Amino acid sequence: MSTYEQYEALGVSKEVYDYCTYHDKKLKERFDAIDEVAEYNQLKVLNAMREARVCAQDFNPSTGYGYDDAGRERVEEVYSKVFHAEDALVRPAILCGTHALTVALFGNLRPGDEILSPVGKPYDTLDGVIGITEQKGSLAEYGVTYSQVDLLPNGDFDFDGIKKALNEKTKLVTIQRSKGYATRKTLSVTEIGELITFIKNIKPDVICMVDNCYGEFTEKIEPTDVGADMCVGSLIKNPGGGLAPIGGYIVGKKECVENAAYRLTCPGLGKEVGASLGINGTFLQGLFLSPTVVAGALKGAILAANIYENLGFPVVPNGTESRHDIIQAVTLKSEAAMVAFCKGIQGAAPVDSFVDPVPSDMPGYDSKVIMAAGAFVQGSSIELSADGPIREPYAIYFQGGLTYYSAKAGIIYSVQKMYEAGCIQKEQIMIK
Ligand SMILES: *Cc1c(COP(=O)(O)O)cnc(C)c1O
Repeated sequence: MSTYEQYEALGVSKEVYDYCTYHDKKLKERFDAIDEVAEYNQLKVLNAMREARVCAQDFNPSTGYGYDDAGRERVEEVYSKVFHAEDALVRPAILCGTHALTVALFGNLRPGDEILSPVGKPYDTLDGVIGITEQKGSLAEYGVTYSQVDLLPNGDFDFDGIKKALNEKTKLVTIQRSKGYATRKTLSVTEIGELITFIKNIKPDVICMVDNCYGEFTEKIEPTDVGADMCVGSLIKNPGGGLAPIGGYIVGKKECVENAAYRLTCPGLGKEVGASLGINGTFLQGLFLSPTVVAGALKGAILAANIYENLGFPVVPNGTESRHDIIQAVTLKSEAAMVAFCKGIQGAAPVDSFVDPVPSDMPGYDSKVIMAAGAFVQGSSIELSADGPIREPYAIYFQGGLTYYSAKAGIIYSVQKMYEAGCIQKEQIMIK
């Protein structure tokens, strides 16, 4: 049986398959470069595990208070080594990325302090945490103020504006690596390093925190390699490798991590408590797989960018740009196209493939939203998933794929569904 016959069983026509494979083949050089980064990061993780002497006993579960949980301490030691950081807090009790960021912020800020975001508005879920929008329990309610400097229209840092915004109250600078759902570009680790150096030259004692969500292992270095005091992320994104069923991490300076631990558990108890209930092995195995899983997701994003760009849909990043996170935005120009695209992603998922995604109202959104996800872990976005608000410019954001081939199948099937819905014409997929 040929590989095409497997795609045919999925419902992909020969012309769509040929068109997509044609683009896939042209990307060999790009993919080789991604594999090179993955190999580097695989060795980085492997060596961290060897140096920390990970052993089979680490996988034993602890219960109750979780005192002396050697496996939990090993997980945190491995994360410290991978990120070249003094310390780490990696816990199933950190419930998601927003929670990890909340713990890091509340743990390190005190009334009268100010947060500065020098890269525009942070990710939406932080609005209520910081108090950008009114919310009970926000940092604003505790007397922590917020200031923001947007990127310049060309995407550069507004160094003058940042210099002006830094003041005697500024205690913490929050830098979001990924663009999230904003239209700005994602920052490279080198760019983050330049920003941190600039800020520390003006105010050496300020805490520089990086929201690292979606960025882990897309490059050989992480923000902690270029001066970040704290780096924060979610385990149901990149570093969980698709295996972690929950969790988040905070890595960085010992004092910052300790402050965060006092907030996550209790002042005085900090990292000493927290039963791991048998999750340590999964965290370690997920981290071990993460470099190659991230590589697969990156290749999927690049394939999609090239295919959809060639079909005439605006894509961010474009087909040739360098990548610093796993998110791909495609402007599909119509509701019908968004629905068809999502049907393709959903239909090629290993879980809930028979479900039909439909636009629906969502709390916090002023328009209907469509989502496609057939994941082993609910809401996991290292698994292939797509979503977007049904409004101008009808942009879909998609990411993930536990393997390149499954990401590729999802993308090919999305093209098929768009083709069947008449959003792509036959002439467009004829290879000249
Ligand atoms: C996903 C994400 C978050 C929030 O993480 P959740 O797990 O959804 O709470 C924060 N910042 C960025 C940049 C993200 O991509």
